[in-house]
Amino acid sequence: MLTLNKSFYVFVIIILFLSGLIYAEGTIEWDAVNVRVYVHRISDSNGEYGKPYNLIDSQMDNLKDVYDDFGIYIQWINPEDIDEIMDDAYAVPHPDFDNLFQVNRQPNAIDIYFGSTHSPTVKLGWAGDIPSLKLWVNGSVSENVLVHEMAHCFWLYHTYDDRSREYETYLPHDDWGNSSYWLNCTEYQFGNNPIEYPPTIIATNYMSASPYYCKDSFSPDQSDRMRFRLEEKSFYQNVASECITVTLKNSTLGFSDNLGGYLGLDDYATAASVYMITLISPPDQTSLW
Ligand SMILES: [Zn+2]
Repeated sequence: MLTLNKSFYVFVIIILFLSGLIYAEGTIEWDAVNVRVYVHRISDSNGEYGKPYNLIDSQMDNLKDVYDDFGIYIQWINPEDIDEIMDDAYAVPHPDFDNLFQVNRQPNAIDIYFGSTHSPTVKLGWAGDIPSLKLWVNGSVSENVLVHEMAHCFWLYHTYDDRSREYETYLPHDDWGNSSYWLNCTEYQFGNNPIEYPPTIIATNYMSASPYYCKDSFSPDQSDRMRFRLEEKSFYQNVASECITVTLKNSTLGFSDNLGGYLGLDDYATAASVYMITLISPPDQTSLW
């Protein structure tokens, strides 16, 4: 009984310690959060024309890399067991998303559906809503599409959408939402002539209407918005959990180990705390809210 109590107190102490490690990005400091995602791969009824697995892998790697920078840790829960949806009805350029988004839905993850190779460029991506727990991507055009659609799932609107003005201040006129205006990352078409964007236009923003090869950033306000919404537990409670995993690196002890986590504890770990932290890492799929 004594040992059990000790373990419990150690657990509580470590939780308190780790909860003091907060993630800073944007204008507000947030706790890190894990978000579980589940991947579906759509092909014809004969199993052909599904997207290559290495394409899915690289898209998912990029997705994780991008959101890592904002303390949103994408947890792909079925990389070795991708759900195969072999159905001609969905292996088309513009499937019936309302029905597709019910196919093998995962109640504890955001569902990502990769379109078949029959869905070339008519539709790049489609989020179920804003916010949403499901999205579809073509997958073959740009990995930035997946980042963009996931941001819709995390409650972001397009930068040119009036509804984004509650958290963005630099927004351009609605015309910028018409992608036919965009020529490249620095110029737009007006009449017959290409004209440089005014400085208020952020062509690199993932939520702008710029060409996908231009996109590589969220604004601090957008980052805060996503984090703020993820903290609203009611909508995301089944897919997100607070992140308490850690990466241990202790040069003094010559100890370096990745326990499946993300928070650096350089030079903080002792032999004792290494043991204690391993007791709680990695977090399981249970929500900690
Ligand atoms: Zn969009």
